[in-house]
Amino acid sequence: MNISKSIKLFEEAQKYIPGGVNSPVRAFKSVGGNPLFIESGNGSKIYDVDGNEYIEYIGSWGPHLFGHNPPFIKNALVEMLEKGTSFGAPTELEIEMAKLIINLVPSIEMVRMVNSGTEATMSAVRAARGYTGRDKFIKFEGCYHGHADYFLIKAGSGALTFGVPTSPGVTKGNAKDTLNADYNDIESIKNLVAENKGEIAAVIIEPIAGNMGVVKVSDEFIKELRSICDEEGIVLIFDEVMTGFRVARGGAQEVLGVKPDLTTFGKIIGGGLPVGAFGGKREIMQKIAPVGPVYQAGTLSGNPLAMSAGYAALKHIKDNPGVYDTLEKNSSYLEKGFKSNLEKLGKNYAMNRVGSMQCMFFTEEKVNDFKAAVKSDTELYGKYFHEMLNRGIYLAPAQFEAVFVSTAHSTDDLDKTIKAHYESLAAII
Ligand SMILES: *Cc1c(COP(=O)(O)O)cnc(C)c1O
Repeated sequence: MNISKSIKLFEEAQKYIPGGVNSPVRAFKSVGGNPLFIESGNGSKIYDVDGNEYIEYIGSWGPHLFGHNPPFIKNALVEMLEKGTSFGAPTELEIEMAKLIINLVPSIEMVRMVNSGTEATMSAVRAARGYTGRDKFIKFEGCYHGHADYFLIKAGSGALTFGVPTSPGVTKGNAKDTLNADYNDIESIKNLVAENKGEIAAVIIEPIAGNMGVVKVSDEFIKELRSICDEEGIVLIFDEVMTGFRVARGGAQEVLGVKPDLTTFGKIIGGGLPVGAFGGKREIMQKIAPVGPVYQAGTLSGNPLAMSAGYAALKHIKDNPGVYDTLEKNSSYLEKGFKSNLEKLGKNYAMNRVGSMQCMFFTEEKVNDFKAAVKSDTELYGKYFHEMLNRGIYLAPAQFEAVFVSTAHSTDDLDKTIKAHYESLAAII
């Protein structure tokens, strides 16, 4: 495959942009090789600047539930573009967007739009702190909630010691209010709650995790977590930036049958434009400025172009409930193909799937938490990634990401992918 233009552009990009990219994972660091510069996307395919075509499963890291550039989103954008790009004043579309989100996700009574998933999660934690008057919050090892300072904290050595920053620039002051629990381990929550009685404002969790590969909570765990939060007056935040409108119309909370107090969204709700949102119980959301004292703002929040794309995406979901059947059909078809390949190859790699999110780990142990996920042989994943790429299949350039299937993937796309999967694994194991 000729990628000479991408190689040249990457060299140039690194002179002007740190690492040549505007978000680190795009640089292919964990799989090696030269990142591809993309020219265009259409349906299930993207095209690089050298004219190579790829069937792809990243979907801009989640937003493209319907594949690239679906006509109903493109048309909505063109229509809005005629009227203007940004007013910094209220628009009717923002009411329509809020009503639609509230209609699709029963736990949401009020919602505020922001510009990214990071903004949504950091605002939700601030709202929970403002509402409870408490400082600390609990997150889980292996979950990702964006790059706000107080999320970039991992567990210290002893289970009950303070956390430590995972990045320079994050202060020890931040670390002392972030507590880390183990995914699917209710004892770790009970210990932290007992140790910090009356001090915990929130628990934030990816209820179906997609940032340590795909890992789902157990029914028992999430129900117990809900009742501990109720007993202790802790705000339960579901980070559904990835799972919202992907695993079901009502997100992971619909799949699990558990209602959080606050939910964060991103990715799909922007229809490919930069959008996030947080919402939930009215009594918490009423604490947000200007109606309440918790400050939160954004020059471009609720931006008309972003709202028109996001609204078009969510309206399509509302009007076409069959979307989730198509996603399930496509994703399970791929999973079956992969599993049958693994059988033929005599490998029992862990495969996790929830709806249109799935992940193959290069370990034969079951993966239910972060400790198990990191047993995956990431070097082997890197080889697999490049074998697939050479066969025209573009997967996430990192092991601990999901394979996102869209409604745009055809049976032909999926068959080609399954064939490439067999050949790629046969070549490396
Ligand atoms: C992507 C992601 C975020 C961060 O969203 P950005 O838009 O990249 O800031 C937060 N939480 C989860 C679960 C995500 O997958």
